[in-house]
Amino acid sequence: MKATIKVSQMTFEVEAENHSGLWAELASVQETFGEKECGLCGCTDLSFATRTVESGKQTYTYHEMVCNNPKCRARLAYGVRNDKSGKLFPKRKLNEAGEPDLETGTYGRHRGWHRWDYKNGKAVSLKELLGEEKSQSQGRIQSQSGALKKPQKSAATEESDEDIPF
Ligand SMILES: [Zn+2]
Repeated sequence: MKATIKVSQMTFEVEAENHSGLWAELASVQETFGEKECGLCGCTDLSFATRTVESGKQTYTYHEMVCNNPKCRARLAYGVRNDKSGKLFPKRKLNEAGEPDLETGTYGRHRGWHRWDYKNGKAVSLKELLGEEKSQSQGRIQSQSGALKKPQKSAATEESDEDIPF
């Protein structure tokens, strides 16, 4: 069976043998391509970006969503599921250093969005990112408080690199 789904102004066609398979495909498309706004500044002008880094004989490709607000330029890192499906998933946890980290990181209002401090050659720390957020208007934080709890519920799908048995 097939379905089409509209996510962030793009139309995706997915196909699966049954309902549960189709559900999984739709969920994956939404999770990967459905980012609506930057988790730090709220900007809705986002771009897909890839970065290639060569280390020894290995070449690594990093997938990131980039905030196009010139004052922000935050990024959301994506990991590749290790089930050979080639599917991506957003890394929603940041560690204390402000880097995406699925093992020691924590969920938060940042939703995985982080920023690189070019001057100091490291990520902006989590503390700094959160402090910055507090100084923003209360209205935005309050209006989002309901939606912000959602990523925690989907923790299982984000962290799991294995197929869930149906
Ligand atoms: Zn931003």
